[in-house]
Amino acid sequence: MRIKSLFCLFTVFVLLLGCVPVSGEEEEIVEEVWLDDEEEPEEIPAEEPGDVFTPSHGSPYTKDIGSAYWTTPMDITDEAAVWDMLMQPITVVDLGKIKGKSRSQLTKTQTYLYSEPDESSKILGEVTNLSQGVRVIEHLDNGWSLVECYSSSFFSKPATKTEAWNLLVSGYLPTKYLKQVEPTKRLALVIDKLTQRLYVFQEGKMIATLLCSTGLVQWNGSKYQPYNETRSGEFLLINMTGQLTSDRLVCSYAIRFNGGDEVHEVPHQTNRDGSYNYKSTEPKLGTKCSHGCIRVQRLTTPEGINMAWIYKLVNSENLCGKVKVVIWEDWQGRQIPEPDPDATLYWNPNGGSYYHSEDHCTNGKGITFTPFSYAQLDESPYSGLAPCPNCAPLRRLAEIREINELYAPGGDHEELLNSLRQHYWDYLNQ
Ligand SMILES: [Zn+2]
Repeated sequence: MRIKSLFCLFTVFVLLLGCVPVSGEEEEIVEEVWLDDEEEPEEIPAEEPGDVFTPSHGSPYTKDIGSAYWTTPMDITDEAAVWDMLMQPITVVDLGKIKGKSRSQLTKTQTYLYSEPDESSKILGEVTNLSQGVRVIEHLDNGWSLVECYSSSFFSKPATKTEAWNLLVSGYLPTKYLKQVEPTKRLALVIDKLTQRLYVFQEGKMIATLLCSTGLVQWNGSKYQPYNETRSGEFLLINMTGQLTSDRLVCSYAIRFNGGDEVHEVPHQTNRDGSYNYKSTEPKLGTKCSHGCIRVQRLTTPEGINMAWIYKLVNSENLCGKVKVVIWEDWQGRQIPEPDPDATLYWNPNGGSYYHSEDHCTNGKGITFTPFSYAQLDESPYSGLAPCPNCAPLRRLAEIREINELYAPGGDHEELLNSLRQHYWDYLNQ
């Protein structure tokens, strides 16, 4: 089934739940919360070419809330708008002290979004304490707030109630748990699941583009792992993990956000002589392949930036809890713009095998490269060049068109994930 039709069903259902009276003022709540224009909610139309996508794509709440994460277009070329969005305060959940829980445990704790302002109502999604941002739709005067976010559903077991894998959901939680945090100007990260790039921002500028890999829903030998899909949303980096090991893969420079999700260096295995081996993971950067974490390139950009640089900056300036991380959802219908044919690329005519985004690169130390145009990339001698793994140059046109085809308006790149969400749809209909 197509994601849109599922989403419509879900929306309609939530609308029904949302209309259950909680006080004597049902009509007022319905009007304020749902229907700004006092019209019946309509079916969300299918995506059209040229649509502007925001993280709240398909949300029943169409109110513009300024330059927030939720309503700012997912367009990395508008540096000023993205920076403005990154510097807006983030509203997170803070459950306060919980007896017997350390700070680290608190950052892995979650709370629920309920279908009504009532803890005995249905659980529609999960939010992670201290790290995950929510969009506040409305503060009710009964101590509850209606919020929206991508559900941080992590595990496939009954204890977590919902299997709303990375679904944009809305629901109620107690207003007393909501807290605003001002992000730092020293660092902010944008991860786009469509382009599989991590964009590094500092002091108003985008200072680097890094290759990354977000989560891929995979078969693990006995079942699919829908919780591999990286949860979209806005978050705060919350814990300096350092290093972690998973299935013989060592992940260095890990910083945790959103419960168990980490942003870390592309994993390596350790050879018998103690050297590091990135052969199985590094070539996959730029495509989805992790178990949910964000794998980031270790090779340095011409500006000297890589995952180690990010980690050291956060660590040395004590920025944990202040760095905003934005993850953009790869909504069906989003498209990677085809580059300007006159865009400049670079290469080393004396035996170079890569094409580059800049005239100098860490990969080719001391060499000043020769320019050529993007339009020439598929012609000899440039057609045989590989994209430089350091400086993340533009993708080839054929590759961009292949991705855009997968995400074409009206298609469904999420067919598998949607089928794995069936438990959730069934639960909603109980
Ligand atoms: Zn390069």
